[in-house]
Amino acid sequence: MNVRVSIEAAGGRIYDYAVPPELQQRMQSGLKVRVPLGCREVDAYVLEVVGAVVDSGTDMPLFSGELITTAAPQSFKLRRIKAIIDPLPYLYPALLRLAHWISEYYCAPLEAALRCMLPSAVRSRKMRAKQQLFVKPVAGEFELTARQRELLSEIRRVGGGWLSFLTREFSCAASTIRNLEKSGAVVVEQRQLRRDPLANRRILPTSPMILMPEQSEALAQIRTAVEQAAQLHKTKPLLLHGVTGSGKTEVYLQAIAHVLELGRGAIVLVPEIALTPQTVQRFAARFGRRIAVLHSALSNGERFDEWHRIRKGEADVVIGPRSALFAPVRNVGLIVVDEEHEPSYKQDEAPRYHARDAAVMRGVFEHCAVVLGTATPSMESWNNVLRGKYKLISLTKRVSDRAMPDVYIVDMRRENSAGGHAMIFSKPLLNALKERLERGEQSILFLNRRGFSNSLQCSGCGYVFACDECSVAFTYHLEDSCLRCHVCGGWRHVPALCPECGEPVLKYAGYGTQRVEKALRSCLPRARVLRMDADVTTRKSSHEELLSIFKARQADILLGTQMIAKGLDFPNVTLVGVLNADMSLHMPDFRAAERTWQLLAQVSGRAGRAHLPGEVFIQTYSPDHPSVRVAGGYESFETLARRELAERREGGYPPFTHMVCITVRSRSEERCVLTARSCARLLAEKGRGRLIVSDAMPAPLAKARGYYRFQILLRSASMKVMSAVLRDFMECQGAVNDVKIAVDVDAVNMM
Ligand code: ADP
Ligand code: ZN
Repeated sequence: MNVRVSIEAAGGRIYDYAVPPELQQRMQSGLKVRVPLGCREVDAYVLEVVGAVVDSGTDMPLFSGELITTAAPQSFKLRRIKAIIDPLPYLYPALLRLAHWISEYYCAPLEAALRCMLPSAVRSRKMRAKQQLFVKPVAGEFELTARQRELLSEIRRVGGGWLSFLTREFSCAASTIRNLEKSGAVVVEQRQLRRDPLANRRILPTSPMILMPEQSEALAQIRTAVEQAAQLHKTKPLLLHGVTGSGKTEVYLQAIAHVLELGRGAIVLVPEIALTPQTVQRFAARFGRRIAVLHSALSNGERFDEWHRIRKGEADVVIGPRSALFAPVRNVGLIVVDEEHEPSYKQDEAPRYHARDAAVMRGVFEHCAVVLGTATPSMESWNNVLRGKYKLISLTKRVSDRAMPDVYIVDMRRENSAGGHAMIFSKPLLNALKERLERGEQSILFLNRRGFSNSLQCSGCGYVFACDECSVAFTYHLEDSCLRCHVCGGWRHVPALCPECGEPVLKYAGYGTQRVEKALRSCLPRARVLRMDADVTTRKSSHEELLSIFKARQADILLGTQMIAKGLDFPNVTLVGVLNADMSLHMPDFRAAERTWQLLAQVSGRAGRAHLPGEVFIQTYSPDHPSVRVAGGYESFETLARRELAERREGGYPPFTHMVCITVRSRSEERCVLTARSCARLLAEKGRGRLIVSDAMPAPLAKARGYYRFQILLRSASMKVMSAVLRDFMECQGAVNDVKIAVDVDAVNMM
């Protein structure tokens, strides 16, 4: 019997080993083992077992997915595995299959895909479960001094505890407790201390709500899907399309309760930005200690403990951003991908997987149901509904018939010509803000640009200050009167004179959140304004702090970037203003229109969520654009989607083709251009008649952090053809000095 393993100390590279007879009985894929490597012994993970498993009675390899290349019988002698570290696998078969799928589909090395399944806190040799001394009182009578007797009764009263806690709590020395141990009155033992990300959170349990008719129907559909996946091994993803506030989350909660009753687990993915304490709270309040949270702000110790709790089955409901998809939940019954349209589900480094699509694949491998929830479906998912690949469930009403907000589209061209200059706030929006202040209600203002102004431009010669390292203009920041680059974070002071013409005349073009804040202070001096953007939320907790200030009504206006666009539920907010809806419309991206209506719908959903009715003002220079009109309720989503899809089909864009974006980067412009051109030629040759291959062209972000960037876009209706060409291309691609090539399959961010 041989095994194929991935060795951590060798950067995840894959080797074959022989299994000595005494380990064969217990050998299975996914185990963590010790193997010899050179003159050392190192950790490795078993990817595949080749050869008969002694007691299973069959000759089948445990892992017989069609994706697997079976290791060839070795003619030379393999080295032997030393030991099995843990009898419980680290990688379950469905996860191993998923790793292979990701590696193949996204053109990434298998090692990279495996790194998703095993977070570094888990792979690290240094991380351990944390052991601490625990003191347990023993029942009975003991011969003790008066002081000892007193201490013992205290320890009994609190039911024992950590040694360090007891010494602090009862002001005694550790040796005093050790003496109690000698008398037999207590037992002191090593116990594992759980590093709990939800510790110190007061969470009150909630019970399931009585569902509205549409919610009940949605729940019934999900339950059917769970059963069909388990019994017929058929996974047909469900698209849960429900306006914000229609009670999707309550449906998820009850669907999860159902799979838990069946003895299975669940995974809930949310965008990182929406993984607020409020969201976690809702799940923890329903499922208590069965919840595990995995997100980027965890300490390594917390991540290690949460991951192992999941692996051992102590937690069976996992909530987290895209990486939580790879949690080692055994026997998953349901995967929920909330806000499935969110671009942040795409990972922007290798392996460049899309968590929504990978979730669907895990569902197929795991025989479980997959629910994709959103108020604004992506065109990919919507097209899958139209093709019959996904099943649609709709929640058309807000819970208890709370009204959707009234949406007003404000034509800024007209406003500006009436006012005689470019304005930040239109008259109707300003009036609405004043009304809210008078009534003691709160408002949210949304602008997708931080900083003070977009750029600093000389009004004499038109010179624009730009970053030397990146191809973007500097943004002017008020606090430290600095010019900052939003790509690389570089900065410089504002010069007194224009470096081009020497005139001291400088003007600021456009506006960012800081400038809006300043304008608000002068138009509405009484308003308490809270600004929230990446400049003020750099500390880990400041995001949470700002939100709790707003929630406690200690501010009237919350002004922010997309950070505030989703997931937040403030009952006292009755007004939402979008300052510049056009910003995302003019991005060089075929998804610009889709992004814009998604964003507008998300932002509008913040208004009027409780018993107070809401109003939304959308300021725009393109009031007739369909993406703006749909947010105003002048056009239905179905009509808009039909038109958008017709255009995409016409142009040969996703979802009708797969798009691969190849980015070539180098510090040398010349080498970058030359490599990109030769790649484009090679691809055109290999894909002739089968792929659409663009020319090599500068990326929209043509330079970043000192690297020039060129792009080649590939399109094909067939992923099979695409994969074959890409594999062929990668094999021909030798490493060129200082030039990096990234392949992004189903690219979402084309910058
Ligand atoms: P969504 O996830 O679609 O935005 P939520 O699940 O957050 O919607 O629901 C919005 C609000 O309505 C929440 O405050 C939630 O507690 C409440 N809610 C959801 N379902 C019900 C129900 N069946 N009855 C009463 N209130 C509900
Ligand atoms: Zn820069």
